[in-house]
Amino acid sequence: MPILRLAVAVVAGLAGLAAILLILRPDLIANEKAWLLGAVSLLMAAMLFNTVTDVLAAQQEERLVTAPPSASSADREVHGEVAKIVGLLQSQVEANTSFSNALSKARDQLPDSLKPEQVRLVVSYLMIENENMRSRTAELQGNLEKSQRQIERLKSNLAAAEAQGLSDPLTGLKNRRSFDITLAAEIAAARTGGKPLSLVMADIDHFKSVNDRYGHPAGDDVLRWFSRILSNNMKGRDTVARYGGEEFAIILPQTSIENAAILAGQIKQQLEGQLWKKPGAPNTMLRITASFGVAQLADGEGTSGLLQRADAKLYESKSGGRNRVAA
Ligand code: GH3
Ligand code: MG
Ligand code: MG
Repeated sequence: MPILRLAVAVVAGLAGLAAILLILRPDLIANEKAWLLGAVSLLMAAMLFNTVTDVLAAQQEERLVTAPPSASSADREVHGEVAKIVGLLQSQVEANTSFSNALSKARDQLPDSLKPEQVRLVVSYLMIENENMRSRTAELQGNLEKSQRQIERLKSNLAAAEAQGLSDPLTGLKNRRSFDITLAAEIAAARTGGKPLSLVMADIDHFKSVNDRYGHPAGDDVLRWFSRILSNNMKGRDTVARYGGEEFAIILPQTSIENAAILAGQIKQQLEGQLWKKPGAPNTMLRITASFGVAQLADGEGTSGLLQRADAKLYESKSGGRNRVAA
């Protein structure tokens, strides 16, 4: 196929040169009108052939890209689409250059006095070039729009995959990975801004017995119910995450240890003031309590140091009898 296209391009080039030569020197050949007509027809046939092969190639490409990409390969595909766009723009720039070359060639080679039939031939040659250019531009526009739609779809796939990778599927809270990222960022911000930052670790008391008595699905429901209570107590830049199992972590930027302990006490009281009801069995109710450990970021401390100190305080609450706050 490339050899055939090359041959057609050579024939088209020769036909174009013959047409230009005959426009400039019609006296060279006896029956110049027949030659001119032949050369221009050959040129038009070659252009038509090129357009048809381009359309067929574009259809082939379209078939190859219609399969939906998996979220994991979406990133690579975005790069592929961008490379495709760059390629399209490059070929358009080349087409533009060859079009303007054709125009300047026609301008430079036009003699001062032309017969009307010569003018007609020049115009028809330019019209072919112009038509070629117009169809290339329309094709480029179509391909760019297609690429843009593809990129939009891939972007939303990526965003969904990213959100899935950062949230806990059971509770909808941020997961451990997201917590680690947020804590590191908030510690950096606290250092830069010279503001306090506190961390609260919360662990549901005797949660294993909920599973044992009411079953694992009921335990899952307690985790969702507990998560809602925590979320309802968050304000501004506060972040609550499921740290693991029945343990939760609250990052409180711009908050002193005293205020963090007040918030933990508030949550403890809210838990004491209500009962969890088993879904589908409203008469089955349970008072759920939790223990809390609070720590404030110290000078020069990193994520692991702060976590260790908050965890030690949580252990203090547990060993002190549970359903309490240690700061
Ligand atoms: P403590 O007061 O000392 O914290 O006791 P506990 O029973 O809450 O703690 P323990 O570590 O003994 O048990 C935690 C239980 O949490 C064990 C595990 O099966 C359960 N668990 C962890 N993740 C999930 C979950 O996603 N769903 C359910 N239903 N249970 C879970
Ligand atoms: Mg527990
Ligand atoms: Mg635990």
